[in-house]
Amino acid sequence: MIDLHTHTLFSDGVLTPSELVYRAKYCGYTAIALTDHVDYSNADFILPRIIKVCKILSQNYNISAIPGAELTYIPPKLIKEFSAECRKLGAKIIVMHGETVSETVPQETNFYAVQADIDILAHPGHLSLKDAELAAKNNVKIEITTRKSHGVTNKEVAETALKAGAKLVLNTDTHVPENLLAKELIEKTLLQAGLAQDYYEIMQNNAKEILKGRL
Ligand SMILES: [Zn+2]
Ligand SMILES: [Zn+2]
Repeated sequence: MIDLHTHTLFSDGVLTPSELVYRAKYCGYTAIALTDHVDYSNADFILPRIIKVCKILSQNYNISAIPGAELTYIPPKLIKEFSAECRKLGAKIIVMHGETVSETVPQETNFYAVQADIDILAHPGHLSLKDAELAAKNNVKIEITTRKSHGVTNKEVAETALKAGAKLVLNTDTHVPENLLAKELIEKTLLQAGLAQDYYEIMQNNAKEILKGRL
């Protein structure tokens, strides 16, 4: 299993990177991206530390631990510039905290995010067809989330993304160990998103496509 959106205690997760990665390995993961919330205040603090620990964990735990970042509440017009900055700092996976309906994320975050050098637009809420088409064009993957609060629009997101030809990935947005992937959670989420059970394999392949050349 591959999961490209998780949090550690470097932002609002409860586990150290080492415990998160080891628990993921124990759950049957083959790859996990550590994508703590970053903005202009902390990216240069968090990323070097996540990069350091991911290297050590990948070498010792027989799992790919990938250093990443979730750009969160960045003023939309600055997303492009900030994502480039995070790449420079060494983020291998860039997730954008999209316009979930469970929070007041700045309007047009989705629109600017899908035109920046990001990998995944997370929990995009009421994703517009126009933004989904831009995501397809720029090969930005769209997230289907197992997280309850953000997942209420999964069905709508899947329909719009597939209509636009954008690719989907399934992520957990893990904050506590109980959020990590399990068979039942995957089945339940697919059902809720209106996706066939065998669609999980396609989403895993989309995640692998992101990882290509990054490990
Ligand atoms: Zn988020
Ligand atoms: Zn998150």
